[in-house]
Amino acid sequence: MRARLFWKLGLTYGALLLVVLLAVQLYTARVIRSQAIRSANDQLASLLSLTLANPPRSDDPAELRDWTGRAARSGARVTIIDHTGRVLVDSEADADKMENHANRPEVQDAFARGTGQSVHRSVTFGRELVYRAQRYDRAGSDPIVVRLAVPLSQIDLSLVELRQRLLIATLVVLLSGGLVSFAFARIFAARVQRLQRFSQRIAEGDFRPLLREGPRDELSDLADSLNQTAARLDREIRLLSGERNRSSAILRSMVEGVAVIDAEERLVFYNRAFSEILIVESANAEGRPLIEVVRNSDLVGLIRRALRGDEGLQSDITMGITQTRSFSITAAPVKALDAPASGRDPQAKPSGAVVVLHDVTELRRLERVRQDFVANVSHEFKTPLTAIQGFAETLLAGALDDPENNRRFLEIIRNHAIRLARLTNDLLKLARIEAGKMEVEFSSVSLLELIEGCTETTLLKANRKEITLEITVPPQLPAVRGDAALLRDVLQNLLDNAIQYTPARGHISVSATAGPREAVVTVADTGIGIPLADSERIFERFYRVDAARSREAGGTGLGLSIAKHIVEAHGGKLWVESTVGQGSRFSFSLPLDS
Ligand code: ADP
Repeated sequence: MRARLFWKLGLTYGALLLVVLLAVQLYTARVIRSQAIRSANDQLASLLSLTLANPPRSDDPAELRDWTGRAARSGARVTIIDHTGRVLVDSEADADKMENHANRPEVQDAFARGTGQSVHRSVTFGRELVYRAQRYDRAGSDPIVVRLAVPLSQIDLSLVELRQRLLIATLVVLLSGGLVSFAFARIFAARVQRLQRFSQRIAEGDFRPLLREGPRDELSDLADSLNQTAARLDREIRLLSGERNRSSAILRSMVEGVAVIDAEERLVFYNRAFSEILIVESANAEGRPLIEVVRNSDLVGLIRRALRGDEGLQSDITMGITQTRSFSITAAPVKALDAPASGRDPQAKPSGAVVVLHDVTELRRLERVRQDFVANVSHEFKTPLTAIQGFAETLLAGALDDPENNRRFLEIIRNHAIRLARLTNDLLKLARIEAGKMEVEFSSVSLLELIEGCTETTLLKANRKEITLEITVPPQLPAVRGDAALLRDVLQNLLDNAIQYTPARGHISVSATAGPREAVVTVADTGIGIPLADSERIFERFYRVDAARSREAGGTGLGLSIAKHIVEAHGGKLWVESTVGQGSRFSFSLPLDS
């Protein structure tokens, strides 16, 4: 580029210089020549008027030759021509050998108007002469023309000399001009090349500014505006890539699965959550047909509807075989996925669709739990209420006067009322705990005191079933941090359950151990045990392995649920290990009071 520009500039300068110099030379030569001719003419005119002041007296050839000889002393060639054009006398040639001069322009003009002049090549001498002729009218005879001529060779000689000088001057100017234009073209080409390299750098994404160099001119202005363009491009690109990084970071970190599908049903974009939900196996599925990546026909159907332009599409799907997960899907058409914003046409077919998958498994589970809860509560209330209503009506119908049964019926009514009260009480407690309104008054609680307090009341029930109760508590057991009343509820519930679900002549042991941070209290029995499938669920509200048995014993199915909440509110854990037919071990941990 540089060489091309350099040679173009250099050669143009050189050619221009040459043309200008040649034109000057030509013009100067012309001016000098015409100047010389004009002064020769003037000289001849005055010579003519001088010679004709004393004209030849007769046509006698000897007389004429004589006169011509005198006139030629001025240095000019003298020719006398008669009215037919015949040369009578010539100072430098033999008149008889000369051709007729009637056709010479200066001669014609002289006969016609009195004087004539011209410059032409002399046939006689073969060189260029300046001619001037004047008519001389004689009384009684035909007029003659006296013509004077001087050669132009003198002028031509000086013109040759001038041309030589001009040529030298031209060469000098050409050489120095060439050198200057060479240097200028070199500098100019180098600067242009620098700009070209800079713009190439910008195109490649390198926006470092160009350092200012050289004089202030259009090229430096161009460099300035290129610098400004580069700076603006840099800013814009940084802004755009920042925004892109931000949005891709947001999309990546979203728990919702997001994917963009183009009009050809190809996956344009998807986030990590999407690939996890749909188990997209290949590392980069972008650009692949949707149908290859997404196997769920409901989802594909919804996306296709969005691609057709349907708005506000929403649907729920369930995925997985062993572990089902529920997703709420939202699909929406995208109008201009790659078209420019200005060209948006509301009627145009969508150029793609966006689909968002929201995991609602937990939500659905909670909904189910709530529905189960309402059903359970209604069920729990129905039995005692029906019993109360039935026995009250029986009493009213006449059993009141039946001394054998009236008291028994009233006792049944009271027992059911107590059960209802307990149920309400437990529900209220649970509701308070779940609403986060449980008041825990933390203090230092001695586990030994807690265990002894609870077993005291249990002992009676144990004795009734001939169940042996064993307590193993190390003497230096550190105190725990907690609410003594709430912890008593927990332990009492575990002990009641142990008695409840252990057949007569069984064994229950209560023990406590302490680690560096926490203490663990365990209630183990030799009872009926809990099947493995139920062992996690017994902590749910109203969940009972054997509902009839529990209800018969006055259980509400809420005890373990409440106990678990209380232990967790203390920062501890409640768990169970059990073998059906052999017994259960319920344990809970509590942080030590330090
Ligand atoms: P309930 O009022 O029915 O005792 P809980 O929440 O205290 O309610 O217990 C839930 C269920 O867990 C009980 O119905 C019972 O099936 C089972 N369960 C609790 N403790 C024991 C235990 N020690 N041995 C066997 N099953 C138990």
